[in-house]
Amino acid sequence: MFVVEHDADVIRSAEWIVDIGPGAGKYGGNIVYNGEPEGITSSGSITAEFLNKKTKPAFSRKPFESFYVIENATAKNLRNISVKIPKGVLTCVTGVAGSGKSSLIHGCFARQHPEAIVIDQSPIGKSSRANTATFIGVFDLIRKEFASATGPDPSLFSFNSKGACPKCNGQGVLTFELHFLDSVKTVCDECERKRYHAEVLDLKLFGRNIAEILDMTVNQSYEFFKSSRIKKHLHLLQEVGLGYLKLGQSLSTMSGGESQRLKIATEPTNESNIYIMDEPTTGLHLSDIDNFYRIVKSLVANENAVVIIEHNLDIIKYADWIIDLGPEGGKKGGELIFQGLPEDIVNNPRSLTGKYLKNMI
Ligand SMILES: [Zn+2]
Repeated sequence: MFVVEHDADVIRSAEWIVDIGPGAGKYGGNIVYNGEPEGITSSGSITAEFLNKKTKPAFSRKPFESFYVIENATAKNLRNISVKIPKGVLTCVTGVAGSGKSSLIHGCFARQHPEAIVIDQSPIGKSSRANTATFIGVFDLIRKEFASATGPDPSLFSFNSKGACPKCNGQGVLTFELHFLDSVKTVCDECERKRYHAEVLDLKLFGRNIAEILDMTVNQSYEFFKSSRIKKHLHLLQEVGLGYLKLGQSLSTMSGGESQRLKIATEPTNESNIYIMDEPTTGLHLSDIDNFYRIVKSLVANENAVVIIEHNLDIIKYADWIIDLGPEGGKKGGELIFQGLPEDIVNNPRSLTGKYLKNMI
């Protein structure tokens, strides 16, 4: 059986491990370990580092005093259940696929609390003109750096404005509309996908032109820039495990998980809000899960309630409160199996989540 996996316990129980890396995106693509599990811990890979790590992020369950209450929920397959969600802490909603988690949280809870901030995996933008750098607001700062280093107005360094390649208008590609057929895109032969006017590309900051900078990853550009304001924006993306994204990568090409983490990275830290996230660790390498937990922790520290629909035990074990639905999916689901503290779910014989969590807490 072949399993593509991030979960430490599954990895530890494997009989053979193929570890690919060393990094993500352009830093990946190589086999960094291929062998029995005993050998991986000395391979020096990120996976090995994680498996070897004995110290986890410091955590203690946060106490709470009051609750949001959902009474007699019957949406979809829910069987007239009533649950409590504590304010200002992390709640994980667990259960097998189809057990009613989404119906309870999106169908009932989010409707009762329209002010809740839902951070989902839906695409951020369809426009090919918006990219990583524009979305996190760092592109304006970079253009200003260019302008002060080289002289012209910052708008010259925008491919949406004065600096655009005249042939493709800054798209980098040429689109041919064909009657009765889908349009055809080809790489612009004037700028060769660089999107900029040739004269703009002669202007350099620390030896690089603007197109070369947009071709850098977040991690590379974090090393490249000296401005602490720019670094601060870039660091937000590193914290959510997106250091491998290129600054110029279009939002329209990002996966659901990447879109969701971009939203998390740019969410202003408010107080006493409700945040709802659906399976936010999907696609996250296990070394990034602890970083993700640190973000959740900082939201909770500001008295926000964070409600996560999750199956990843590495996050569930950190919950302050668990709502477990089941026992199965569809018609056989929709029951409240358990609600309460993680330390108590492990003793609940009906809860599958409790059974698996037992070894972890
Ligand atoms: Zn062009």
